[in-house]
Amino acid sequence: MLLEDTGVGAGSSRICDAAPALRWVRRDARPAGTVVRVQRVVIGGPEVILIAGPCAVESEEQLLATARAVKAAGATILRGGAFKPRTSPYSFQGLKQEGLRLLALARAETGLPVVTEVMDARHLEMVLACADVLQIGSRNMQNFTLLEEVGKCRTPVLLKRGMSATLAEYLQAAEYVMNGGNEQVILCERGIRTFEPSTRNTLDLNAIPMLKRYTHLPVIVDPSHGTGHSWMVPRMACAAIAAGADGLLIEVHCDPASALTDGAHSLTPGEFDQLTKQVAAVAAAVGRVARTA
Ligand code: PEP
Ligand code: MN
Repeated sequence: MLLEDTGVGAGSSRICDAAPALRWVRRDARPAGTVVRVQRVVIGGPEVILIAGPCAVESEEQLLATARAVKAAGATILRGGAFKPRTSPYSFQGLKQEGLRLLALARAETGLPVVTEVMDARHLEMVLACADVLQIGSRNMQNFTLLEEVGKCRTPVLLKRGMSATLAEYLQAAEYVMNGGNEQVILCERGIRTFEPSTRNTLDLNAIPMLKRYTHLPVIVDPSHGTGHSWMVPRMACAAIAAGADGLLIEVHCDPASALTDGAHSLTPGEFDQLTKQVAAVAAAVGRVARTA
């Protein structure tokens, strides 16, 4: 049934109001839950998984050193932005095609599958050539033409929550991708804008159990962008796993002080290694296992 059919109205902001408009993502469409497979990594199963890497691909040395370190610490998917959505047009915009080439190199060397952002449908073919998972960033969560395009692909999509999106809007964005025929959607809570200026965003831990209740899709959490402070990341990572998240997306940089983007919340490889141990303990406490190889 479409929103229009229900008389609910497209402006409905609560999931329960929007539920009649959800055909594909609703939990009762697949009560056992969706499992997304990325090579040998299973997302949405009993194991919690770690996706880690730099905010932006900056150089071959930076990416390879970070990729080796996060793999050694237990990450099973490598992240890295080649196309960076930046607030200022004068900020570093990413290495673009060269960044994709470096990601392919890191994947070949480490064996880690790669997730990277696609910002524009015109780049889709290029990004698909190196990505094992397509990331749709927060700023593009309601770019409906882009959602339709990735919906036509058969590569898994990591769909980040828009920074001002309600969960109902978020699930309807996922609905666009699934309605195109791409059933491999991973949701990612990455913090929302609130009145609180001490943190970059407010990590919405409520979103985890709420999304798990209303959808069968796997839910991961990005405490890096969700807090904006590296010192907060391990605690909020543990909190996310305790709340039922299926995995984490963590930004790691070999030298955060010199990072071209997001150094403030990037962990060093040593800090990431520590985080994995804390996360494994919390995962065990809530009946999950942290997958680290
Ligand atoms: C990112 O993950 O690199 C990113 C830009 O995140 P977001 O879209 O959540 O801001
Ligand atoms: Mn970032």
